[in-house]
Amino acid sequence: MQTIDALTSTLSSYLDPEQSNHVKRAYFFAEQAHFGQLRRSGEPYVTHPLAVAGILAHMHMDHQSLMAAMLHDVIEDTGIEKSAIGTQFGPTVAELVDGVSKLTQMEFESLEEKQAENFQKMALAMAQDIRVILVKLADRLHNMRTLGVLQTSKARRIARETLDIYAPIAMRLGMNNVRMEFEDLGFSALYPMRARRIDAALRNARGHRKELVEKIRHQIETTLEQEGHEVVVRGREKHLYSIYKKMKSKRKSFSEIMDIYAFRIIVDSVDTCYRVLGCIHSLYKPVPGEFKDYIAIPKANGYQSLHTVLMGMHGVPIEIQIRTRDMEEMANNGIAAHWLYKSDGQSANGSHARARQWVQGLLEMQQRAGNSLEFIESVKIDLFPDEIYVFTPKGRIMELPRGATAVDFAYAVHTDVGNSCVACRINRRLAPLSEPLQSGQTVEILTAPGARPNPSWFNYAVTAKARTNIRHYLKHQTREDSVSLGRRLLDKALASFDTGLEQLQEEQLGEFLTRHHYEQLDDLLEEIARGNRLPAITAQQLLEEVGAGQMAPADGAQPVAIRGTEGFMLSYAKCCHPLPGDPIEGYLSSEKGVVVHRERCRNLGDMREHSERLVALRWDDEVEGEYPVELRIEVENRRGMIAIIATRINSMGVNIEKISTDDKDYQFTYVDLEMMVHNRVHLARIMKRLRNINYVRKVTRVKN
Ligand code: MN
Repeated sequence: MQTIDALTSTLSSYLDPEQSNHVKRAYFFAEQAHFGQLRRSGEPYVTHPLAVAGILAHMHMDHQSLMAAMLHDVIEDTGIEKSAIGTQFGPTVAELVDGVSKLTQMEFESLEEKQAENFQKMALAMAQDIRVILVKLADRLHNMRTLGVLQTSKARRIARETLDIYAPIAMRLGMNNVRMEFEDLGFSALYPMRARRIDAALRNARGHRKELVEKIRHQIETTLEQEGHEVVVRGREKHLYSIYKKMKSKRKSFSEIMDIYAFRIIVDSVDTCYRVLGCIHSLYKPVPGEFKDYIAIPKANGYQSLHTVLMGMHGVPIEIQIRTRDMEEMANNGIAAHWLYKSDGQSANGSHARARQWVQGLLEMQQRAGNSLEFIESVKIDLFPDEIYVFTPKGRIMELPRGATAVDFAYAVHTDVGNSCVACRINRRLAPLSEPLQSGQTVEILTAPGARPNPSWFNYAVTAKARTNIRHYLKHQTREDSVSLGRRLLDKALASFDTGLEQLQEEQLGEFLTRHHYEQLDDLLEEIARGNRLPAITAQQLLEEVGAGQMAPADGAQPVAIRGTEGFMLSYAKCCHPLPGDPIEGYLSSEKGVVVHRERCRNLGDMREHSERLVALRWDDEVEGEYPVELRIEVENRRGMIAIIATRINSMGVNIEKISTDDKDYQFTYVDLEMMVHNRVHLARIMKRLRNINYVRKVTRVKN
């Protein structure tokens, strides 16, 4: 088990003492914050962040990353706030910790391939600072290393996620060592039997091959030495998961795959790479078509090397990779290699700069190679996305440009959805349509029949699709069109009350128009057509306020809690908790749709100055469901009273959502309850039974 002292001595090899001390301070903070928490293995929790920091120290990451590693589970698991971390360790570290926490909260379900790729992009997009990803990868790496102690189903989920999301992210960042470890650990957790069998076969083969491997290695080494090259020659083995993938995808047997002998030659300069290649090709015969020059044309993640395949003695195929020490470092650690080389104390401002530098490096490499820049584009997009990635309620991922809002999202889903959207929920919370979306959010669009694009959307729609559709809609809607559309919509709404515009009396209509400050009917109709007024609500107002027509709604309406609100977003005011059976009134909010209050709610009184927004509402006769309600019970101070009350309520099959007490005086206590009931009658029954309890003096429903 690692200790903080051992880590500190590692740090002293590349950080200055002051930076080391910051890391140490973060460790002690984490130790205290996680005090008393244990890992599943039984060790104190702090061993985990310490190990994560250890992994990053091994990559020579900077002190801020290490501090974030120490603190990475503090927000999530100990309830310490981001601001507290900011005060203690500065805003950068707080941002890093917060970023890692956000990634941790993302739920990855099992995914089809395309979706998995979007998830990777989403994760990258969510991380403002690329170090967030590196800390998260180290976190996941330690969790994978200690996966054995977890129960199987959870271990499988984590393993799947590692293979689907984190291994590819590591690959995109060129961190090959991390990727291979992810793959082998993930593979072993998901398919323990297969992994064990391949592992056993590998050990067995290693024994048989040992002699031949040594012989070839020796031959290569002496040949190169004779030519005056100082090189390191290493035998190379495929890792478990890559053998498995090869067996599966190429339908090869284990022995066919193992029949290849692979070596890596590390040299001092690019020049030497090509010279060594020449020597090797004269030692054994190269297999035509197998030579690849990834030095001149690097791979997308910056990987550089020469690859060739030779025919050895007895026709054994030999795979050779030739590369410089720098290339080797890059191949193993990718983006993290930049911290290793550039951490010379003069901390470059921000890791974003470092990541950019990395991409810049790739770019230059590519330009030197004179190849198309396409593949670099993919890396750049992954690291510095101009896109955000959000979920539909069903978990599909949508890609949108940065700054996009729910209106853009709605149009991206479908033009009709955009055209009829009235409100949205972001992460299940009602939000204004104008709120810019962030990667990782779930967005739900609420539509209403007859709703229309609003000119104000122009202020915050950014996608071409949304803007074109809104413009198109508004442009093609002349006043004449609008008026006739508005007439149709209002007529339709009135029809559900068995009436229509024609049936309304002139003076009633006139009264209504004056009251709502319209000069003429056409103005009102145009407002409806432009989506500034909802037709069904207008119809109701007409009928309620000026008594036009009759109020009995037509039959055949589908079951909704409140009559006339079909297709609208409904919510229940938290101030007065209306119950079916209560007289109610609605307030039309542009963000929350129709908010239902009890008729006498005091808050509603304050809203009367916007009388055009108030709508009369009636509960549907067949309303179902449970609604929250608050009760205040005054009881004599006696032991066990709360238990008696709670038992009585539970015995009626009612769930208590919240319970609290407040002393009234030396003799009486208030017990405040929040529970879910079906309707007014139901509530009355409950209150009656509560009043029958001894020592209960008073039971009242709370009104604000
Ligand atoms: Mn963790």
